[in-house]
Amino acid sequence: MTKEEIALKACDILEEYYPGSVCALHYGKPYELLIAVRLSAQCTDARVNIVTETLFQKYPTLEAFASADLTEFEQDVKPCGFYRTKAKSIIEMANRLIDVYDSRIPDTMEELLTLSGVGRKTANLILGDVYGQPAIVTDTHFIRITGRLGLTDNKEPEKVERDLRPLIPPERSSDFCHRIVQFGRDICTARKPKCGECRMQTICRYYNASSGT
Ligand code: SF4
Repeated sequence: MTKEEIALKACDILEEYYPGSVCALHYGKPYELLIAVRLSAQCTDARVNIVTETLFQKYPTLEAFASADLTEFEQDVKPCGFYRTKAKSIIEMANRLIDVYDSRIPDTMEELLTLSGVGRKTANLILGDVYGQPAIVTDTHFIRITGRLGLTDNKEPEKVERDLRPLIPPERSSDFCHRIVQFGRDICTARKPKCGECRMQTICRYYNASSGT
C-alpha cells in the first residue's frame, strides 16, 4: 500500500472508532480555546479542563484576562505547571488580541504565530477548530502513531506536519487529529499499545515488523 492509501485507511478506521470527533479541551469562546491550549503544554487535558472550568468563570471576557493581576493569575493557573511562563504569556496574548486584532482571533498561521506562546501546533488547532481550515496538529500522540503506521520517519513536529499534510485529505485533517489523540489514549498508547485488539493491524508498520508478517 502507498502512504496515501494507508493514511486514508487510517482516517476511515479512526472514524469508525470515534464517529464524533471533539477537541479534548473544554471551551466556549474561541479565545478560551487558545488559553486552554496554552495551559495544556506539559499538562494533561483533564487537568486543564478542571482549571479552566473555574478560570473562565472568574475571567469571563478577553478584557478580564488582559487586565488580570499577574501574581494572582499565576496562582489561578498553578495546577497546570510552568505557571509563571503560562500566566505571563496568556496575559500578553490577551492584550495583543485586543490591541492588534480588535479582540478577534486571527485566521492565518502567520498572524497566530505572532501571539505570545503560540506555536504551529496551537495555530493549527485554532485554524481547524475555530475556522474549519485544514489542520495538522502534531502533538505527542500524532507523532507516535503516524510513525508507527509508517507515514513518517521524523520526530520533529514541523517535519511530521510537512510529511502528513499531503497524505490526509484537507477536509478530514482536523477530525483526524482529534481522533488520533483519543486513539493514542485508548489503544495505541505510548508504552503498551493494544495491538491485539487494534483494527489498524493490517496497515501498521510497527505491528507488522514486530509480528514478523
Ligand atoms: Fe498502534 Fe499496535 Fe494499532 Fe499499530 S497495531 S496502530 S502499534 S495499537
